[in-house]
Amino acid sequence: MPELPEVEIVARRIGAAVAGAQVESTLAPGINALKSFDPPLSALDGAALEGVRRRGKMLVVDAACGVSILVHLMSAGRLQLFDKRAGLRDRTSRLLVRLEGGRELRLREFGTKQRAWAKLLRTEELDDDETVSGLGPEAWPDPPAFDDLLHAPRPLHALLRDQHVVAGIGRSWVDEILWSAQLSPFKRGDDLIGLEADRLRDATVERLGAAVDDYEEIMKLPIPDKMPMPLLVHRRQGEPCPRCATTLEAVHYEDYVMSYCPACQTGGKVLKDRRLSRLLK
Ligand SMILES: [Zn+2]
Repeated sequence: MPELPEVEIVARRIGAAVAGAQVESTLAPGINALKSFDPPLSALDGAALEGVRRRGKMLVVDAACGVSILVHLMSAGRLQLFDKRAGLRDRTSRLLVRLEGGRELRLREFGTKQRAWAKLLRTEELDDDETVSGLGPEAWPDPPAFDDLLHAPRPLHALLRDQHVVAGIGRSWVDEILWSAQLSPFKRGDDLIGLEADRLRDATVERLGAAVDDYEEIMKLPIPDKMPMPLLVHRRQGEPCPRCATTLEAVHYEDYVMSYCPACQTGGKVLKDRRLSRLLK
């Protein structure tokens, strides 16, 4: 599940590789993946790509003709660069940007639910798009103080993942950040004291930044289908906490898992696992 660090390294690596490359043609084999119709895909024909940048968990591919492709990978999409063009058999392809020299930038979907999407937008109007205009400040590298959280009557796990509150964090990194800050995922924003909000902001910057640094060391093109995420807590329930060696616990939801350390985060309390309690009924 690509979140801020994963999207950041994709933007850096692919951006550097495609900057200056000319677009020959663009195709959208995934009928539902392209969520815009004006400007048309042909607007990119002949344009040089300027680079790739990140906004929250989204990617922006800018072309010199004043058009940008906004891409949301959602839970299982990938933006990858290939030296060869996709054959008809590549059923994962949703958007193909054919570049000079035979290279191809490809938006692919690896999930069973077709969620990854792209929009072609005029670059100057990108920030007005509803998916961008509502985004909160970037969670990294330098978000403002988390003071707004102090008034929010919602659990931290939901608040940090809310892209309107802070942009870039999803279901994997939220567990890591809350563990680093030693805060319960169920603690409400309006129950935080100022020092805890500061600690949470620092943990956010530190963990996301460390992940970006980690990827900067190890990640090369081509971007692999599955990225090795440097996670210490998320989905590691049953293993010892890296800080205190207490067994990590988890709460299972329908389509995700929330992992935490009871000793470091919930005052020793093991939170009710909804999946288990349902099975035991
Ligand atoms: Zn612990």
